[in-house]
Amino acid sequence: MARPLRADIDLDALRHNYRLARDLAPRSQAVAVLKADAYGHGLVRCARALEGLAPAFAVACLEEALALREGGIKAPIVLLEGIFAAEELALVEAQGLWMAVHSDWQVDALLAYRPARPIPVWVKVDSGMHRLGFPPERLAAVWARLAAAPEQARDLHLMSHFATADAEDSDYFRRQSALLETLAADLGAPTCLANSPATLSRPESHGAWNRPGVMLYGSDPLETPNAVSRRLAPVMTLRSEIIAVRELPAEEPVGYGGRWRTPRPSRIGVVACGYGDGYDRHAVDGTPVLVDGRRTGLAGKVSMDMLTVDLTDLPGTDIGSEVVLWGRSSDGSVLSVDELARHCATISYTLLTGVLPRVPRRYH
Ligand code: PLP
Repeated sequence: MARPLRADIDLDALRHNYRLARDLAPRSQAVAVLKADAYGHGLVRCARALEGLAPAFAVACLEEALALREGGIKAPIVLLEGIFAAEELALVEAQGLWMAVHSDWQVDALLAYRPARPIPVWVKVDSGMHRLGFPPERLAAVWARLAAAPEQARDLHLMSHFATADAEDSDYFRRQSALLETLAADLGAPTCLANSPATLSRPESHGAWNRPGVMLYGSDPLETPNAVSRRLAPVMTLRSEIIAVRELPAEEPVGYGGRWRTPRPSRIGVVACGYGDGYDRHAVDGTPVLVDGRRTGLAGKVSMDMLTVDLTDLPGTDIGSEVVLWGRSSDGSVLSVDELARHCATISYTLLTGVLPRVPRRYH
């Protein structure tokens, strides 16, 4: 029998979440962000599931775009970080990609290139994230250079990224937003600004395009969930089984370092899933898991291939019982990846992208 651990990917849930993003912003188009292997869900499978629904896809780099093209995806693909070397422009053109530009050397390279057809360009401005993008005071000059080169660049859009759109109330978001409104108005530029939290909660940031990512996979990025974010459905379920049961008296240590001790005579279930699969080793004792749909907690440190859970209050559970580490159990109960992330002092993004290749993905 095969090791029971797998990641079940619910493509209907992906489509459901995409529709929520789209319907929140009826005057915008939503480019589906599929970078980092579709946040760990499988790049090509997710793109295929969204084809016909999402008018365009976004990835971080050329390699990801090429993988989509090799997978037969024909829709426009935006390179969110643009090119990493001038030589990539030939492939950008040949594969019909759209590109962001965030640095002068990228603009220089594009203007020195002679494409048969101009390339759609999203000009990234640093409105406060202070990561990628042109300083606001230089934007007009960069924009003018590109606008004056219709043989190289077309469909110019203003792009930027928010640092605090997830916060319930953020002065910093309002500052970024106000600056972007001015910059876009001055240029008369269509925009692409909103990530998932902004798509969900900041209608004023919605532009010609929005760029939802993590919400497509069912994770709620908002500090305080709202009516729509509560309707997001988990796409990935990390599912395994109890593979052994230990009956222990009180006061026995369990696992490496004996961090957890049985507070009473206890039944301990051993689950086939560990940090060698991508489960976070920082998960604390009591971190929730669903066993046959019922909640219990982690008991002891996570090992490479296994983790241990307390079954004492779950009569009827045994070897072969279903264990959901996050996602939806067979009886419909949900343990969100966001809740798990809080117990691991991390964010859903790292858990989802961190599921390692040895975990088989199963699509349905
Ligand atoms: N746009 C850019 C430039 C990003 O870097 C990301 C993600 O990191 C996104 C959009 C999507 O963000 P989110 O997953 O929070 O929706």
